[in-house]
Amino acid sequence: MKNATKVFKFGGASVKDADAIRNVANILKDYSQEKIMIIVSAMGKTTNALEKVVQAYSKKTGDAFALLEKVKQEHYQVAMDLFGEEHAIFSLLNDTFVEIEWVIEDDQQDGYDYIYDQIVSIGEMASTRILAAFLAHEGQSVTWLDARDVIRTDDTFREGRVDWGITSSLCQQKIPGLFENNNLVVTQGFIGGTQENFTTTLGREGSDYSAAILAYQLNAQSLSIWKDVPGILTGDPRLFENVQKIDRLSYKEAIEMTYYGAKVIHPKTIKPLENKNIPLFVKSFIDPAGEGTLISTDVNVTYPPVVVVEPNQVLLHISTRDFSFVTERHLGFLFQQFDKYRIKINMMQNMAISFTVCVTERSERLAQLIPELEKDFKLVVDRNLELITIRHYTKDFVDTLSAGKIILFEEYIRGTMSMVVKEIPKMIRK
Ligand code: ADP
Ligand code: ASP
Ligand code: MG
Repeated sequence: MKNATKVFKFGGASVKDADAIRNVANILKDYSQEKIMIIVSAMGKTTNALEKVVQAYSKKTGDAFALLEKVKQEHYQVAMDLFGEEHAIFSLLNDTFVEIEWVIEDDQQDGYDYIYDQIVSIGEMASTRILAAFLAHEGQSVTWLDARDVIRTDDTFREGRVDWGITSSLCQQKIPGLFENNNLVVTQGFIGGTQENFTTTLGREGSDYSAAILAYQLNAQSLSIWKDVPGILTGDPRLFENVQKIDRLSYKEAIEMTYYGAKVIHPKTIKPLENKNIPLFVKSFIDPAGEGTLISTDVNVTYPPVVVVEPNQVLLHISTRDFSFVTERHLGFLFQQFDKYRIKINMMQNMAISFTVCVTERSERLAQLIPELEKDFKLVVDRNLELITIRHYTKDFVDTLSAGKIILFEEYIRGTMSMVVKEIPKMIRK
């Protein structure tokens, strides 16, 4: 049975500065009588800034401390703007940052991914501290929850895999009590905790997924993800003009779009929601009265063409060295290698003596995979490509989007067209 609780998720852009945080508090005023679990990302581009701290620390460039100090001062500045100079928030923020200062004072002993998670996760710790304090300051009945106490993952740092069984019991033990005394519970997106109490992250942009995990665990009435766009659009507005809002989408359509790389929702978000039939609203924090997009069970609509563009693509042309056919045994071996180096295949095709795969550039992982494959196969690698996918394509659409491009690889499957392209090199007359 559905619970009365709703889950809201506010991403980085919605809490990027003091005015943005005031705006979130205003949106929440309209729901002040409801029980809402609020999942929050790090402010603005904090995660990118913290990634630079990790890199500086691990490469010993000497400026890790200064880079961290800059992030810390930005948070203090926002807090100062919201609360003035005297407020308990400053000691909470200090406690959050001091843990990382201790980490980077020592020489690196632990693995890169482990260190990454311990450092990068403080972005969400700090943003939620500020938002919860501000909601309390505004008179809302609110409490703060440490997501690491309820979302349990394994110790795959940077890509923590959720243990759904333990997460479920932790949520049942810890969350209902919080809602007995408060209307709003603020917690972090993107992070979880291991059995040994280490912090993990769920992969970049993972806060949407955190929100879906908690909506599932709470049997929530709905999940609303608040973005800087009016809803799900027919293409990324940063790349295309004339995009339209799609009012309703089925879970299936949404999972396909995110699978092909639509950056608007994290691909892992849809499954938990579909499994419990929890409606997902994608709404605008700039125009909260707007209807947004509703994603739910199958809807009877005809979709317009929807475009998804994935940059940084690599084509691997893998062929046998002795002109023998590519058999299922070869394919079995190849898939095992892709799995071993955790490289997701975006598109593939086999021919008589070759097998072509399109993957997203992950330099460190490909640098390991490619030599491994070259032991048995001949490889030709094409880099700096784009994967364009058009759901519900029309010929006109394909022609427009492929104009001026060389198509290296294309595929048409049941209404979906995908092509791997590169710009036609410009010939300049001497
Ligand atoms: P968050 O603040 O929650 O992290 P993101 O920046 O990750 O939000 O996602 C919102 C952005 O996704 C939009 O600003 C938009 O540029 C981009 N985007 C890409 N594809 C789409 C799409 N099909 N519809 C809407 N937005 C899209
Ligand atoms: N702050 C994290 C990131 O920027 C998670 C998220 O925002 O979803 O990747
Ligand atoms: Mg995001």
